Amino acid sequence: MDIRSMDAAFVANTYDRYRPVLVSGSGSLVYDEDGKRYIDLGTGIAVNSFGVADPVWAAAVAAQAGKLQHACNKYFTAPQAMLAQKLCERTGMKKVFFGNSGAEANECALKIARKYGGAARPNIITLKNSFHGRTIATLAATGQDAMHRDFGPFPDGFLYAPANDLPAMQALMDGSVAGVLVELVQGEGGVNVLDADYVRGVEALCREHDALFMVDEVQTGNGRTGALYAYQLYGVQPDVVTTAKGLAGGLPIGAALIGARAEHVLLSGDHGSTFGGNPVCAAGAISILDRIDDALLAGVRERSDYIVRTLSAVRGVRSVTGLGLMLGVETEKPAAEVVQGCMERGVLALTAKNKVRLLPALNIPLELLREAMEILKGVIEA
Ligand SMILES: *Cc1c(COP(=O)(O)O)cnc(C)c1O
Repeated sequence: MDIRSMDAAFVANTYDRYRPVLVSGSGSLVYDEDGKRYIDLGTGIAVNSFGVADPVWAAAVAAQAGKLQHACNKYFTAPQAMLAQKLCERTGMKKVFFGNSGAEANECALKIARKYGGAARPNIITLKNSFHGRTIATLAATGQDAMHRDFGPFPDGFLYAPANDLPAMQALMDGSVAGVLVELVQGEGGVNVLDADYVRGVEALCREHDALFMVDEVQTGNGRTGALYAYQLYGVQPDVVTTAKGLAGGLPIGAALIGARAEHVLLSGDHGSTFGGNPVCAAGAISILDRIDDALLAGVRERSDYIVRTLSAVRGVRSVTGLGLMLGVETEKPAAEVVQGCMERGVLALTAKNKVRLLPALNIPLELLREAMEILKGVIEA
């Protein structure tokens, strides 16, 4: 049985997959089962931060796997503690809770806000068109009606505000609100960047109402936008930052970084995860985080400028949105058609709503980026 029919027969039918069966890769090159070469501009949705099988990352992961692959959270392990220290030192946050995914990182944020607010202040405000995960609570937090169909009833206490509309946020803000959770660049929602004034206004409203200002950096985090975390570009200091996708360079991890205001909210027994902070995932994350330095971030911004400049000049491109190497390209052709054409010509890209979404490796070599842009241009103009 070939892989495609085996998958169709036995894997739950929740994904519309593209045709390639991916087998291996090296950096920003990926190969399918026929040996076809692709330049990867998707990195498994911003996960493979330094590309496929990066040797430094692979060595760190293999070394930890050969030493201690797991210990339950009743014991101390060095990689988890060291990763937490690095995350706190580079963000000014105080504590880290580890889970295994973006949804779990956001679940933790929601639990923190609920306990912080208490019974009198149960409400959490999120944005319309947001995406916060697929569990029941994070789906409730997700401001997209289409994703709610078939899965109710949902937990109460979620309010939705339109993005970049401060009066609308202000109108929802009252003594019933324990926290606000926003993506600074809506990823799944179509690579929409929040305005700096709006974000600072939301932070100020949270302070005024003693509500937690929480930022979902599951997709924007870990160097993706040209800063370690996107909030650092906005001049704000969130009370909770959630992150996941790119943090461990391709291994499952999620983290809620908790600031001073909420540092002591979660106590012994309040939350937990069997795999959370797993030594192998934490070792992978340390090897990624250590390499996201100023030079790397300057390289992200340089590559971003090059992509934006190149694609903005292409006939058939309506707009290029996003920050750093998280970019959305609105084309006259349907995005799905552009992605399909690119795949046939050896470039992997993604879609987000009506846009072609580009999330290349943070260190994609410039010559591969140039080759990929030529192909993208050809497909968009054809
Ligand atoms: C992907 C994503 C999530 C969900 O992460 P999972 O690891 O799939 O649970 C949550 N929030 C944002 C902003 C995301 O991009």
